[in-house]
Amino acid sequence: MPVIVPESVESALAALAAFPDATVLAGGTDLMVEVNDGRRSLARVVAVGRVPELADIRVDDATVVIGAATTFARLELDPVARLVPALALAARTVGSPQIRNAATIGGNLATASPAGDALPVLVALGASVEIAGMYGRRLIPIAEFFTGPKRSVLEVGDLVVAVRVPIRRGPQDYLKVGVRNAMVIAVASLAIAVDLDRQRVGIGLGSVGPTALDAPEACSWVAARARWRGDGVEVTDDDVVEFGERVTDAARPIDDHRGTAQYRRHAVGVMARRALRRCTG
Ligand SMILES: Cc1cc2nc3c(=O)[nH]c(=O)nc-3n(C[C@H](O)[C@H](O)[C@H](O)COP(=O)(O)OP(=O)(O)OC[C@H]3O[C@@H](n4cnc5c(N)ncnc54)[C@H](O)[C@@H]3O)c2cc1C
Repeated sequence: MPVIVPESVESALAALAAFPDATVLAGGTDLMVEVNDGRRSLARVVAVGRVPELADIRVDDATVVIGAATTFARLELDPVARLVPALALAARTVGSPQIRNAATIGGNLATASPAGDALPVLVALGASVEIAGMYGRRLIPIAEFFTGPKRSVLEVGDLVVAVRVPIRRGPQDYLKVGVRNAMVIAVASLAIAVDLDRQRVGIGLGSVGPTALDAPEACSWVAARARWRGDGVEVTDDDVVEFGERVTDAARPIDDHRGTAQYRRHAVGVMARRALRRCTG
């Protein structure tokens, strides 16, 4: 099978335009599983791991720009761990060290599984996805990127180039429930990001809907109830409980082989309360 190994975004796009049957290959941790299971066959691949722009992490004003081919192993470290701690926490829960050394954030986005661990964090922080295609580059807000389970706005010939994640001053957390402690796909997950400067709370939910979800009503409710200080935020115990209920209302889970919808709703409520307590005084 032909393997094309471009060394720039432009040459990757040229290869994808020349061969519409080509498939983008990053770490291969989703793609090769599908191939090995016989669910997907490949005519040729464009392996993007050697494109420097896709492996770059840079800070641009108040945004971290993370190249699509950045592995979860790198997301666990500085500067992401310092600037977007929830993303580093989420990265640490992905698969095993071997998987984290290969699996990329661009692959997590393009696979668009509602269980993808990076996705709740990107939703909580209101990240944007930079896509390059035959008509140039476009920036898509994360809320518009997913169109359904394992579906996104990506079209044939498109390449995820980077994800732009706002840097927010304030505590963040990522919680994940699985059938065991490690090497597990989320049964339910939740990211929280407190923004002390804008006095906002962001939430992202994983594995409890067709795509990663936000909980805007719960977030604006708790932000209005909270007592904001320059260096922290406080909420009452009653408000923590009500926040858990409101976040649970935002979930749209189904029953599947990993868990029931009822269990997932319960887990989301527990995680929402725990995450808010950890992030507040
Ligand atoms: C044992 C195991 C454990 C796992 N555990 C977890 C886990 O705990 N949490 C979790 O979230 N995931 C997990 N996964 C799933 C997988 O590791 C992640 O979804 C990973 O982020 C996929 O990235 P990749 O680079 O390997 O993508 P690939 O497999 O290379 O590609 C996946 C899809 O994305 C497309 N693609 C890749 N990069 C781009 C790009 N830049 N532009 C456009 N399209 C692109 C490919 O064409 C393909 O359709 C696990 C997988 C395995 C095998």
